[in-house]
Amino acid sequence: MKLIIASNNAHKLVEIRQILGPRFEQILSLREANIEHETVEDGKTFMENALKKAREIAALSGCCALADDSGLCVDALGGAPGIYSARYAGEHGNDAANRQKLLRELAGEEDRGAHFTCAMALVWPDGREVCAEGYVFGRIALAEAGENGFGYDSLFYLPERGCTMAQLEAGEKNAISHRFNALQKLLKQL
Ligand code: IMP
Repeated sequence: MKLIIASNNAHKLVEIRQILGPRFEQILSLREANIEHETVEDGKTFMENALKKAREIAALSGCCALADDSGLCVDALGGAPGIYSARYAGEHGNDAANRQKLLRELAGEEDRGAHFTCAMALVWPDGREVCAEGYVFGRIALAEAGENGFGYDSLFYLPERGCTMAQLEAGEKNAISHRFNALQKLLKQL
């Protein structure tokens, strides 16, 4: 089966491809499928946004579309930045500014609990839909550590591993991440 991933986020694409492995004949990004489309992410939840992206791409392409909407939810901030994770500091996708803002917001805060959420939606052009949400729990570190991954990974400390997400190798992250957990739940339903 051919699958189009409703994203041009290179990091997500690499991780999704690695997690899905050889299950699909072809996994294409929007660019590779020659689709130029920006979904307006105006949903109130991760899942609303994921479903919206996947539905639009399935309708446009006539192929099965997979969308990932994900982000970081921090306990002491009432779940923020949540669905606004990519533009927490203002400019969309400025990961360094987002991390700096997060450290500022949590300065002096003792409750550092947080989790990543990933909503995955798989939509067929005939209207069939399968979706699932995955999580990974940890703490926000006092300072960045690690070079791997993207987004908030260098601030996301995993107590049971004794390191941040960005200090894990790609294969290690992809075996425990919110993205992995969401995809496992989704694949079980197929
Ligand atoms: P989206 O493209 O609207 O789903 O935004 C996702 C944003 O959440 C990214 O820009 C990152 O800031 C953050 N995020 C999502 N998944 C991860 C991850 O695996 N590691 C670190 N940050 C992530």
